[in-house]
Amino acid sequence: MSATGPPTGRASTLADLDAVGVGELGSVKAHPKWFDALEQVGIRTVLDLVTHYPRRYIDRTLREDIATIVEGQESTVLATVRKVASRRTRNGRAMVEIDVFDGSSYLRATFFNQSWRARQLPEGTEAVFSGKVDRYKGRLQMTNPLVDLIGNRTGRIVAIYPESEKAGLSSQDYGIMVEDALANVVGTLEDPLPEAVRAEHNLAERTWSLHQTHLPEHMGAAQRGRRRLGFDELLRLQLILVLRKRLIEREAIGIRHQVGGALIHRFLSRLPFPLTSAQQRALAEIDADLAGPHPMHRLLQGDVGSGKTLVAVAALLTAVEGGHQGAFMAPTEVLAEQHAAGVRALLAGLQVPAGDGSLFADRDLAVGLLTNRTTATERRALHARLRSGEIDILIGTHALLTDAVAFSDLGVIVIDEQHRFGVEQRAALRSKGGQPEAGGDKAAAVPDVLVMTATPIPRTAAMTVFGDLDTTVLDELPPGRTPIDTTWARGPIEEAGAWERVRAEVAAGRQAYVVCPLVEGSEKIQARSAAEEVERLVAAELTGLRLGLLHGQLPARDKEAVMASFRAGDIDVLVATTVIEVGVDVPNATVMVIEDADRFGIAQLHQLRGRVGRGADRSWCYLLGEGSTPEGEARLKALAATTDGFELAEIDLELRGEGTILGTRQKGATDLKLASLRRHRKTVELARQVAFEIVDSDPSLADHQELADEIRFFVDDEEREFLFKS
Ligand code: ADP
Ligand code: MG
Repeated sequence: MSATGPPTGRASTLADLDAVGVGELGSVKAHPKWFDALEQVGIRTVLDLVTHYPRRYIDRTLREDIATIVEGQESTVLATVRKVASRRTRNGRAMVEIDVFDGSSYLRATFFNQSWRARQLPEGTEAVFSGKVDRYKGRLQMTNPLVDLIGNRTGRIVAIYPESEKAGLSSQDYGIMVEDALANVVGTLEDPLPEAVRAEHNLAERTWSLHQTHLPEHMGAAQRGRRRLGFDELLRLQLILVLRKRLIEREAIGIRHQVGGALIHRFLSRLPFPLTSAQQRALAEIDADLAGPHPMHRLLQGDVGSGKTLVAVAALLTAVEGGHQGAFMAPTEVLAEQHAAGVRALLAGLQVPAGDGSLFADRDLAVGLLTNRTTATERRALHARLRSGEIDILIGTHALLTDAVAFSDLGVIVIDEQHRFGVEQRAALRSKGGQPEAGGDKAAAVPDVLVMTATPIPRTAAMTVFGDLDTTVLDELPPGRTPIDTTWARGPIEEAGAWERVRAEVAAGRQAYVVCPLVEGSEKIQARSAAEEVERLVAAELTGLRLGLLHGQLPARDKEAVMASFRAGDIDVLVATTVIEVGVDVPNATVMVIEDADRFGIAQLHQLRGRVGRGADRSWCYLLGEGSTPEGEARLKALAATTDGFELAEIDLELRGEGTILGTRQKGATDLKLASLRRHRKTVELARQVAFEIVDSDPSLADHQELADEIRFFVDDEEREFLFKS
């Protein structure tokens, strides 16, 4: 067996391994079918193959003797197939009975609806069977046990790989190919992590780690190997984020805003309530950023109702105070419109210098609104006023990102609900900073950016997804809020209770929301079903109440009109799709009924629930639904158990895994195959700490060439250019 290894004389890099196709492996040449099967599961190179890590390990010395296993308990036995019988049960189900022997006794493995097991486990096959032991007609058996083929692989510990059933690759096939790759291609791997760092944090060497992960000498070695390789995944990610963060801080010229001026003072002193101490802390951190020479790049995390909007408005106002403009971007039209209404109300009556040369003349502070629904005429007028500086704060959706939108002097950007916008959109808005003017030095200044999210995410996830931002957490709700009483209404009696509550609250002068079931298909279908739900409720549970309908298909004007009449109290119950998920703020609404709640995600349910409990009155949330899946049930249980968004976020991460959180970022580098944001919190933090140590001692990674090369290999062209421009 010979394959093209790395250039002789030096250790191989990950890029080297990626340059060798799996077709060059002797083991694959000997099994041409494997080549196509690997292709099917996306394993093309030796790097892909050796990063297809074992799912678990079986320690042959720890297996149990069949003679001593106990009924009712989970057991794992290593045994040889002695007899195979396939038949059909009386009701037609395929049934395979396999008798296995391990030297101590016999056990029967019974499989239902898995007729292929007869082919998989012919007589003489040695395999590991794991499952609960039960007794049937007097004999010990396992029903549908987990089966791991270990073939003729030797060694005390056997690695079990995720199998690719469709492609027809078993764990032992992978074992053979990986062993081949390790022996004939990988050789010695370069280790880009400085010896000192390894020693300090007790991280194993890379070549050893890769070997022990696949062919461990003992369980401890496998764990140690995996820890190192998982650390590498996280370190790559953190290095990219930290490099990006430091680069922006170092290179971009920011605006040194004047903070704590008269305008801000007037704004804060007119508020009908004092700031919470969390809001004060947030404003202080933001002020420090705004006053500093580098552009702010900060994430404001705060649970639903924690009062982020006010913090955002204060930041925008600081820009306006210094003669700059502010931009406030929201993810939906409803939210943008509501922010516009809210911000206008908060800022009503505030004056700014007219700036048209007329000394001492003041004009009203101007807030503009731009969404896709803004008419062409309005839009043209808005663009002109924006360029001339007559608009102080522009609020809108992603319509703000279009080329025609040009500010005269953009100073602060607030992006609400960041998780709905991509990194690119953040950058696009930032690039709308002051246009270069000949000689002017405010010219190339980069605006300050505040990113807000009302979907709390766990600390380790925030570190990873928003690792290039500084973070402020609003961890306190304004006083006087009564906690929302949440009921999982899982049967007709509880459901009747929910509608009863709606009627009682409306009778007491309060209002309610009903969120319609999610319907598969287009927005149009969703809208139609929402309209039908209104009809149904009017005819049944909510007869006599004034119902309104809100969904994404309504023209902007109608949406605004519906929201306005709900705010004014002319609608008792707003029946809506999830368009009301973010930010809708009507303190008089005290009941939220969510139909088919088990279909929604935790974050979404938490957001929806956050639409009530916004005033001083007691509020209720009813989650209707059966909990049709175990996950759905777990979600509803979690929602009923706590209103703490951060706690829910942890549960969410637990239930969904991290894929969804990492989602859209650079894919190669964020491929966490071994590391888990959930299970390896300490390692996530360690990777971040090490990334800062390395970048702060060596900002361009000039003294860490091997690390730099590895990162270059993992990121795309654009990122590479950004991170490593000389
Ligand atoms: P978030 O955007 O964080 O969900 P909002 O900014 O919409 O929260 O604020 C929720 C509600 O709390 C609003 O009605 C707002 O006026 C009110 N609010 C904000 N800060 C305070 C405070 N310090 N004291 C009392 N009420 C507050
Ligand atoms: Mg908000």
